[in-house]
Amino acid sequence: MVKCCTLVHLAHAKLMTTYYPLHKLRKIKGLEKAKYVDPYAGSKGNSIRYLSVAPRTNDLKVNGVDNLFCAGEKSGLFVGHTEAIVTGSLAGHNAVRLSMGMHLLILPSSLAIGDIISYANEKSTTREGRKQRFTFAGSDYFKRMKELGLYTTDKSEILNRIKKLNLNDIFAQKLL
Ligand SMILES: Cc1cc2nc3c(=O)[nH]c(=O)nc-3n(C[C@H](O)[C@H](O)[C@H](O)COP(=O)(O)OP(=O)(O)OC[C@H]3O[C@@H](n4cnc5c(N)ncnc54)[C@H](O)[C@@H]3O)c2cc1C
Repeated sequence: MVKCCTLVHLAHAKLMTTYYPLHKLRKIKGLEKAKYVDPYAGSKGNSIRYLSVAPRTNDLKVNGVDNLFCAGEKSGLFVGHTEAIVTGSLAGHNAVRLSMGMHLLILPSSLAIGDIISYANEKSTTREGRKQRFTFAGSDYFKRMKELGLYTTDKSEILNRIKKLNLNDIFAQKLL
């Protein structure tokens, strides 16, 4: 008996390979008519991505467009949900700031989020750098975080760093 069923939707270009037999899936109540849709990868590949990354500044505003911000995989060769969430939060925050005529926020590189945003930007200027992928979860960027002393799982240490920069609750503050 199936107790828990998770369906992951990662958009058209990146649906995971359909490994779970459809006839079994359809036995689950409510999923009798379920179907797999994988128009781009045709169940052969599980990830077609970075088809168009937007050049942007470290406040996540797209270069050459006055009122457009980007985040996630669109804003650099980032991999991961955390990376999409942190850049998305900053991009949204800065979009509001722009609309209110305020200066845009750039997170300092003494914070891992600020550093990954500026580091990915710097790397995007070289051919070699454009072959790299950036994630907090591993690979070269994880090594860099450790080398720079940015990596910690200690929440109070992270909070202290943010407080020192006067950035605590920055996204929760009402912008006037
Ligand atoms: C198979 C697989 C497994 C993964 N597993 C993990 C994991 O375990 N943990 C983890 O942290 N990360 C994982 N990732 C990476 C993570 O899913 C992505 O890095 C993250 O979802 C990127 O988020 P995003 O918002 O930048 O892009 P997406 O999630 O790709 O969102 C972009 C959206 O824009 C839409 N779109 C595209 N073009 C247009 C257009 N012209 N008009 C309107 N809409 C458009 C797309 O349909 C899509 O919905 C995985 C990725 C894959 C492919």
